[in-house]
Amino acid sequence: MESKERMLQDLENQVERCSRCRLAATRTKTVFGEGNPDAEVMFIGEGPGKQEDLTGRPFVGRAGELLTRIIELGMGIPRSGVFIANLVKCRPTVDMKMERDRPPDRDELTACSPFIRQQVEIIRPRVIVALGSPSAKFLLDTVKGITAIRGRWGEYCGIPVMPTYHPSYVLRNGGDASPLRREVWDDIKKVLEKLGRPVPKKA
Ligand code: URA
Repeated sequence: MESKERMLQDLENQVERCSRCRLAATRTKTVFGEGNPDAEVMFIGEGPGKQEDLTGRPFVGRAGELLTRIIELGMGIPRSGVFIANLVKCRPTVDMKMERDRPPDRDELTACSPFIRQQVEIIRPRVIVALGSPSAKFLLDTVKGITAIRGRWGEYCGIPVMPTYHPSYVLRNGGDASPLRREVWDDIKKVLEKLGRPVPKKA
């Protein structure tokens, strides 16, 4: 059997060459995702932002800093121990001007979704955390917004999915001081419980 590393590398090579949608024309780098191929937890965001497009790595901007704190300080897992990916692998921007980020359009999602589907199939994490509305809607096949569904377990390909707020949304609404931060922490505690991992009192 081919190793997970090998299968992920093959897939990443395909992503690097991909021109299935218009985002290929404006990207600097594709952002495949990174982390442990045997991760118990997989985080799925919506798509790369500016820093991610420049570096080719997921969640390395301000939202990434918050996500890393949640993983490392809150969950007690090194960032390299989980797998972090996005629904789409190239940065979607308003009017394709590479200035303002936007959520992926439906046709971009349709073109790119075989990649995230295969990543999940290869990694087969015990739990997926869906970050924000586009990710939760896609994985849980729902039209409901994140506020309505966060904190409640769903399922994608037989894998439990915990939808929670996107770190960018938390940052735009007060960051660490925001009540949303507490709600994200409540959702993450459920993930730790499901994994049978110790739940710190506070993060
Ligand atoms: N927002 C996302 O959804 N993904 C990233 O990689 C960065 C910001």
